Formats: sequence, C-alpha cells, structure tokens
Amino acid sequence: MSKDFYEILGVTKTATAEEIKKAYRKLAIKYHPDRNPGDTAAEEKFKEISNAYEVLSDTAKRQRYDQLGHEAFTSSGGQGFGGFGGGSGGFRDPMDIFSQFFGGGSGGGSFSFEELFGGGRSRRRDPNAPVKGNDLRCDIEIAFEDAVFGATREISVTKETDCTSCSGSGCAPGTSKKSCPRCGGSGQVTVSQGFFAMQQTCPNCRGTGMVIEKPCSSCRGTGRQQTGKKLPVRIPPGVDNGDRLRVSGEGEGGIRGGQAGDLYVVIHVRESNVFERDGVDLYCRLYIDPFTAMLGGVVEVPTVSGMTKMKVEAGTQSGSVLRIKGKGMPALRGGGRGDLHVRLQIETPVNLDGETKKQLEELQKRLAEKNYPQAEAFRKTAGAFLGKN
Ligand SMILES: [Zn+2]
Ligand SMILES: [Zn+2]
Repeated sequence: MSKDFYEILGVTKTATAEEIKKAYRKLAIKYHPDRNPGDTAAEEKFKEISNAYEVLSDTAKRQRYDQLGHEAFTSSGGQGFGGFGGGSGGFRDPMDIFSQFFGGGSGGGSFSFEELFGGGRSRRRDPNAPVKGNDLRCDIEIAFEDAVFGATREISVTKETDCTSCSGSGCAPGTSKKSCPRCGGSGQVTVSQGFFAMQQTCPNCRGTGMVIEKPCSSCRGTGRQQTGKKLPVRIPPGVDNGDRLRVSGEGEGGIRGGQAGDLYVVIHVRESNVFERDGVDLYCRLYIDPFTAMLGGVVEVPTVSGMTKMKVEAGTQSGSVLRIKGKGMPALRGGGRGDLHVRLQIETPVNLDGETKKQLEELQKRLAEKNYPQAEAFRKTAGAFLGKN
C-alpha cells in the first residue's frame, strides 16, 4: 500500500495551502532530476511529490481526494470520479507542474532546472561593453526673422562625459583596476537560498569583474564628470516651429569608449505680428482706401525682405488676395521659396467733417444699382429664395 499524498509531502491532513506549497518546493528542488542525474529512485520520488502536489494544491481535487480516500483516488482508470482529465491516472507531467510552480510560464513545455534557476547561458548584457552616450535636447526660441534668414546661436549644454583626470577609468593617476575579490573577476556570485543556489551579478563590481583600487579624486571613482559647453548652432533659413536640428556627437559622452550621443535642438519660432505662416507660404493683410479700390492704384506691401509696390486694379473688392510669388518662406531642404498672399481689406473712412460728408452724400446719389452689380445679383437670388418658401 502506497503512502498517501499528505505523507508524501510530509504535511498533516489539515495543512494549509501555503504549507503544502512550501513542502513541495523543498522536495521538488531536492529530487529534481537535474540535480540527481541517473538516480531513478530520485526520479520516482520527484514524480510522486509532483502528483501529490498537483492534487493537494487544487482545492476541488483535494476535497475529492479527502472524500474518496487514497486507494480509490489513485486506482487505474479513475472510474467513479470523472473529471480529472484522462491519461495515465489523470496526472500531468511532473516537469510541467514543476515549471508552473516556479513561474516557468503556462506555455507548455517543461523547463530544466538550469533554465529556471540560471547558471548555464546568461542572457545578461556584457557589463564591460561600450555604451553610446545619451542624446540631449535643448530648446531655443528664435525671432520670426531668424526663421526667414537663418541665424547662428550659441547654446549652452551641460553634459556628462568621461572624467578628464582619469580618462573615464575612475582610477587615481598611476593606479589601475584590479580583479574583484568578491567574485574573483567573473562578475557573478553564487547566492544560496535554502536548498538551491542562484547566480547573481556581483554587487561589489556590478558585474564588471573589476574594482577600483584607489579612486580618482576628481570624479570619486565614477569616471564621469559634468561638463558645461557652449557651442554655436547654425539655424538654417526656413525652420519652422517644432523642427529639430541634430548636432551630431554633441550629446553625452559614450561610456567605455562608446560613441557620443547627439544633441537635438528644438526650435520655437516667435510669432510675427505681420505675417502668418503655413508651410512655406506666408499670409498678411493690407488695408486700402476705398478710392484706390474703386479707381485702382499702387500700394505698398510688406514682405519679409522689405516693402514692395503692387498694382491694385480698379474695382478691387474687399477680401481679394494678391499673390506675390517667391516672397514666402525659403524651403528648408532647398527648392525655392513659397509665396506671399496679401488679403486686401477696404478701410471705411471715419472721423469725417461736415463738408466731406456733404460731398459724399452727393456722390452717393450719383451712384446707381448698376454700380453695385453684386448687391443687385444677391438681392435677386435672395428674393427668389424667399419667394419659394
Ligand atoms: Zn576621474
Ligand atoms: Zn565582483
């Protein structure tokens, strides 16, 4: 007659789930086949404890097991208490149970002892490999004109680089690193936890295998220092709000001979109070007097490169747009310039004196419907619309 599951795990019939877990953990590690190669007795024992744990760790199964008793529960075929899953006696692969218990995942397939507890192959990054320096970001605000014509600005950056006194080694002049006494230079230490041993990154040398004998006084052994640097940045004509300029190699210095990071200069362009921008095109508004609008004439138009004269046709309406080719923003990556769009707005004169008012009233009478063809056309359209409803 075989031992019952409680005896196999060495717990009492009233053991809590936690006690059962603890007992299984201890035994599973002890009898794991990887730790007992070629030992069939240990393998048998490992299966036995896994079977016991599978049943006792499951509340429903444990309840049925307690009700039916060990003999009935484990007799072949499992008749009389269906629902335990088929197969040989309804038990799963002991390795599978072991993997799940130790967090090997539920993706099926069993994990070896080594895979679960480290040891063999290491997926850790080489702590002595060169590391590229961090990229840095710097924001600058420029005037609208600087975006049009380009500019050069000096910017200040504070960045971390290799210590100049020790060239990044962290060692005082004339000294060098020595092999870490804690891990013997391997960078890994073995930590025992109960029954099993785990490989860990050596806390003394952080996995590098080397320690500083006498630290550099400038950087206190870190090998790094903060450096302030001023550098000129050329802002190309045509930059827009939010554009990023990359200054190659001006980020933080690399570690252990790694490449330096890059500096990204983020451009913020102050708004112009004359021009609005949309891509390479510029827009502005120009007020003209009603006489120029009626009779035509020449107006002065602001552009980014100064005032320019433009002809206004007789009968120009408010809201018309003059397009001046090539007076927009320069394209950032070459290829000409955008256009300037000037929206004409007729300004109605105010502050009129009595005499002027009188003359205008006379003029008003002389203008008839034919002088306002748009108003006339609109009246007809509106009339037709209202008549229908
Ligand atoms: Zn130093
Ligand atoms: Zn070490």
